[in-house]
Amino acid sequence: MTRPAFTAARRIVIKAGSAIVDGQSPACAAIANDIAYLRATGVDVVLVSSGAIALGCPRLGINRDGETDRLSLEQKQAAAAAGQPALIQAWEQAFAAHNITTAQALITLDVTESRRRWLNARATLNTLLGYGAIPIVNENDTVATDEIRYGDNDRLAARVAQLIGADLLVLLSDIEGLYDADPRSDPAARLIGDIPTIDASIHAMAGDAVSSVGTGGMKTKILAAEMAASSGCATAISLGSVEKPVLRLASKSCGSWFHPSQSTASAREQWIAGSLNPVGKICVDDGAASAVLQGKSLLPIGAISIDGKFERGDTVQITNAGGKLIARGISAYDAADARRILGRQTGEIEAILGYRRSAALVHTDDIVLV
Ligand code: GLU
Repeated sequence: MTRPAFTAARRIVIKAGSAIVDGQSPACAAIANDIAYLRATGVDVVLVSSGAIALGCPRLGINRDGETDRLSLEQKQAAAAAGQPALIQAWEQAFAAHNITTAQALITLDVTESRRRWLNARATLNTLLGYGAIPIVNENDTVATDEIRYGDNDRLAARVAQLIGADLLVLLSDIEGLYDADPRSDPAARLIGDIPTIDASIHAMAGDAVSSVGTGGMKTKILAAEMAASSGCATAISLGSVEKPVLRLASKSCGSWFHPSQSTASAREQWIAGSLNPVGKICVDDGAASAVLQGKSLLPIGAISIDGKFERGDTVQITNAGGKLIARGISAYDAADARRILGRQTGEIEAILGYRRSAALVHTDDIVLV
């Protein structure tokens, strides 16, 4: 599928890993050349670039043993703050040769977890693309804590692909793709070029291998490909430090290619299902649990308890009385108001709150079963 998927793509998200950007401006120049070519042919491109932490460490005199994971959260945040300007500068320089304006977009997990922020981020990226700029996205590591962090830009890039409705996600890495064994130790290892569906055997092949510089390994790339597939977006994993790292995907059979899923969920469903870290939890009784499982709305009367602090429009987890996650959905009320109407009849909502926005706590259109 490589050639058609690449040549048909109108919107591409390209992710460059730390191993590529880490002080290697020739790699940035090669990627920028390819992006300039794509843009000239009318393709929208968003670049997701890692490397802030990798570039920031030497600037602060932080010694790494090759693995960013050994750094404390404070060190990672400080290194990201010191490295992000250098990262943007490297890309600015690379794109200046093509007279292309770059735009920095730093995203935290909550941007993709809150529907309002999500729509806002989407509008901004679309506006930038409309003006012909190349958005350069990274996680806002400096304010992200471990609990609210993607941590790897693979899944962040998949989220960005969902955000802008991309049809292709390219994960450029220090490895050509997914192998059936570790190519560094096994010379017989074979590259899996075409992956129509991501099943348990594919996840098993990805193992726990982690790239030496970035935080993501093959595992997070497969998870990213899975997220992208659910939105009808194909994914290619391939080597970034080669000539024409992106354009070569069109002309040669290289990299590992993941097909988009056949049955793609609606944009709203994808957004709910792809939420990594829902901020709140609604525990429901047995009657409400079976109603939700049968595709009905969650009414206040069926709710037993509300956990967490969330706003109206945030994604929440819906658990059964035993605490098992059964669905995710968008709450029609904020946490404080949801607590006030918990266990009450729908007809009482207005008298309790002074307003009624919805008869349901979570409407069936806003529920995705797990
Ligand atoms: N956001 C991190 C950085 O720019 C990288 C995360 C990753 O390695 O994917 O340094």
